[in-house]
Amino acid sequence: MTRTSISQLEARDSFIPRHIGPSAAEQQAMLDTLGYASRAALIDAIVPAGIRKKSKLELGQFYDPMPEEAALAKLKGIASKNKVLKSFIGQGYYGTHTPKVILRNIFENPAWYTAYTPYQPEISQGRLEAILNFQQVLTDLTGMGIANSSMLDEGTAAAEAMTLIQRVGKSASNVFYVADDVLPQTREVIETRAKPLDIEVRTIKAEDVGSLNESCFGVLLQYPGVNGEVRDYRAAVERLHAAGAMVVVAADLLALTLLTPPGEWGADVVVGNSQRFGVPLGFGGPHAGYLATRDEYKRSMPGRLVGVTVDSQGNQAYRLALQTREQHIRREKATSNICTAQVLLAVMASMYAVYHGPEGLKRIAERVHRYTAVLATNLEQLGYTLANQTFFDTITVVTDRAAQLHAAAVAKGYNLRHIDAGQVGISLDETTTREDLAALWSVFAEGSGKSAPDFDAIEAAVETEFPKALCRTSAYLTHPTFHRYHAEHEMLRYLRALADKDLALDRTMIPLGSCTMKLNATSEMIPVTWPEFSSIHPLVPGDQSVGYREMIDQLEQMLCAVTGYAAVSLQPNAGSQGEYAGLLVIQKYHQARGEGHRNICLIPSSAHGTNPASASMVGMKVVVTACDENGNVDLGDLRAKAEQYSNDLACVMVTYPSTHGVFEEGIQELCEIVHSHGGQVYIDGANMNALVGVAAPGSFGGDVSHLNLHKTFCIPHGGGGPGVGPIGVGAHLAQFLPNQRSTGYERSATGIGAVSAAAYGSASILPISWMYIAMMGGQGLTEATETAILNANYIARRLAPHYPVLYTGHDGLVAHECILDLRPLTDETGISNEDVAKRLMDFGFHAPTMSFPVPGTLMIEPTESESKAELDRFIEAMITIHAEIEKVKRGEYDKMDNPLKGAPHTAEVVTADDWKHTYSREVAAFPVASLRKKKYWPPVGRADNVYGDRNLFCGCAPIEDYE
Ligand SMILES: *Cc1c(COP(=O)(O)O)cnc(C)c1O
Repeated sequence: MTRTSISQLEARDSFIPRHIGPSAAEQQAMLDTLGYASRAALIDAIVPAGIRKKSKLELGQFYDPMPEEAALAKLKGIASKNKVLKSFIGQGYYGTHTPKVILRNIFENPAWYTAYTPYQPEISQGRLEAILNFQQVLTDLTGMGIANSSMLDEGTAAAEAMTLIQRVGKSASNVFYVADDVLPQTREVIETRAKPLDIEVRTIKAEDVGSLNESCFGVLLQYPGVNGEVRDYRAAVERLHAAGAMVVVAADLLALTLLTPPGEWGADVVVGNSQRFGVPLGFGGPHAGYLATRDEYKRSMPGRLVGVTVDSQGNQAYRLALQTREQHIRREKATSNICTAQVLLAVMASMYAVYHGPEGLKRIAERVHRYTAVLATNLEQLGYTLANQTFFDTITVVTDRAAQLHAAAVAKGYNLRHIDAGQVGISLDETTTREDLAALWSVFAEGSGKSAPDFDAIEAAVETEFPKALCRTSAYLTHPTFHRYHAEHEMLRYLRALADKDLALDRTMIPLGSCTMKLNATSEMIPVTWPEFSSIHPLVPGDQSVGYREMIDQLEQMLCAVTGYAAVSLQPNAGSQGEYAGLLVIQKYHQARGEGHRNICLIPSSAHGTNPASASMVGMKVVVTACDENGNVDLGDLRAKAEQYSNDLACVMVTYPSTHGVFEEGIQELCEIVHSHGGQVYIDGANMNALVGVAAPGSFGGDVSHLNLHKTFCIPHGGGGPGVGPIGVGAHLAQFLPNQRSTGYERSATGIGAVSAAAYGSASILPISWMYIAMMGGQGLTEATETAILNANYIARRLAPHYPVLYTGHDGLVAHECILDLRPLTDETGISNEDVAKRLMDFGFHAPTMSFPVPGTLMIEPTESESKAELDRFIEAMITIHAEIEKVKRGEYDKMDNPLKGAPHTAEVVTADDWKHTYSREVAAFPVASLRKKKYWPPVGRADNVYGDRNLFCGCAPIEDYE
């Protein structure tokens, strides 16, 4: 036996070959296909020498890869510097029990968390149903006509509501009033959003809303207010409407199970957060925000909307509705820039409602309310005065001993809300127990000499502590879905049945170009549910979040090293929000130099739709620049436009490598042109998976980039979110990075305002990216990039004889993704890219990206995590499909009746006694032999988008349909 040294044996524990799909031998086989001797030689041929990184990644202590166990142990050490107390702080975030059946079977289940946004409805029926349930929960609880399928947080939802009512309202005023008891973090996000749009934000006392006489286009109310008060705004809303203003209400969903919903007292838009429906606090996020409005505004609503339609067999099917509103179609005129939202969290919140049902939710709400009433009585008996006369779950105690009370509470294991020196806030929640009440009593009773009161006697005497006129009388959650799954077995099987309908990464590669559907390793996911991360309220005293901030600092440093930028902000909670933040930073930079007039944003025609949508949100004017026939930015046109707008040029937004899947040689020249006209360079970092360790945007000319941690850095897509969209900036822009001053986070006195409600955005999923980088180390990250490029080129080369690759760089090579041009085949045969996408479902594959960035094409991005075996399985499917198209071309298959037009084929269709097609059942269901052993059956046939948009219905099916 040959002797192996300990260090060799240790090296075998490396995470790198777990993350990177193809083995060394498989990589060599792929390189042979491409005609390159080594991966290094291939990368040299693809990445322009001028931008190629010459030194290793400066990851410091994280350069050497850590085995999974070691990285987990190190992160556990950091996490344990957080202190887990019970937080009765409130202010928009509440303790909640995630039902364990939801924790394990959704939150910790890759069938749910590794799914993509349901753009391909036929393989997404499970999550579409779950999100539709979310919409139903919201329309019912708010009393509104329609709700979307999640916003990024409550603050941004309120800001979107403000711009929504400005768009649909009739008022000419630019004034928006915010009641003084709106959550401070919401107000701060609104102020950030309002400023570049010339909206003037003013404050009005909540008690004075009814006598507001100034003209305005809208008002934002909080229900109940941040200090706990529950106000009856009925008359005020009538008056505001009569004066031509519209009303946005930020409402607490649990409170709405007991309170008359805003929809019944005139609200035009209702927004909020669904966090307390079973989603952990997580230091501020991710949680699903929500937005509900009147039916008539559905076409102006921001964000995603799930609707009901029919499939090719006339059966009911779900799909995303009204996508024509979205930014990939409407560009700078889109209703919002939201792309990645908070789907996984929306699914969790909806399932919390499904599991508890209306009675369960009401029971929880009543218990919270009753506990609060008991606490209020306790405190009054101790001689305290309460600032609020009405409440649901929050009381504000007037005291001259605030600091002492906070200290005493912390000593007993509780956080209360710091308001000011004279007031302490307490918000109870689902997790509150009698023991908690006893402990809180003792905090406030300290030194009083009194003995503990009799809980039952007080409990028996307390009454409902909000206005009788606001007691909810209308029913909610009457659909069978909210009544069937209260037993855990039923719930477990419902979740499993839904997950079984869907394709996620746990079943197949998802070769979506631009989306980077790579491995979300289990070790990366495990820390997310550690209580040291999940149970921290975003407003805890600083000494309780030391571990969080250490992890965040380290991740910022890691991302600086990777991007070549000087500083990183993790606050934006999606790529789109990073774009928005980055553009604000650029704007602030120009203003600081006395050049605030610069407002032209050059955007190549190949850009992602979020780019122009974000530019218009900061009030910039979008000027589109052309691409040449090779798909590259047309530098001549860019130069001409930069010259034309030289005095007003704010920036360019360019994606690198381009959305066309090519490392453009002219990128440095492009940056120089824009800089020479005084503009800044925004490099959209969504394609960072082709750059990490190989080239750095901050080093080849970029001033700002966002990254999508849910693409390159392994945060799972969650069926359409959560995400994190940090921005990296050059040293000259670091002082402008976002703050969240209302929550005590001031990074820089000259920084922009908050772009998210929480200072660190979606903090609780940051450990995923930390783990990935720590386990890969500098070498592993670079290998990942190179393998991603190798995999893409292998697919492009193998498929090129069958499908032309639209754009290539030198030597016919592509970057980390490739666009297959289906248009010539479509012209010849009538078979479209959509037909191919749907036919792939019969093979058990998720389709590539359809028609972005070029209509009529498919864009494939395999990522480094796919093994050669999986790539070959995909290639076999694509080649088989090509042969089918050839049969159509030769007339062997009918132009309309063929396996492509008929796809996807459900089990019902294939097994029906009645089969009238010109192709066989076997061809329909088992086009390649391996499917006989492993078959995914699409649960519905092709979804009819036009029907669904014409007959828009965005809630659960009416009760009659279940009978
Ligand atoms: C994904 C993507 C975005 C948007 O990012 P989100 O996180 O979905 O908001 C922007 N640009 C490009 C090129 C993308 O691929």
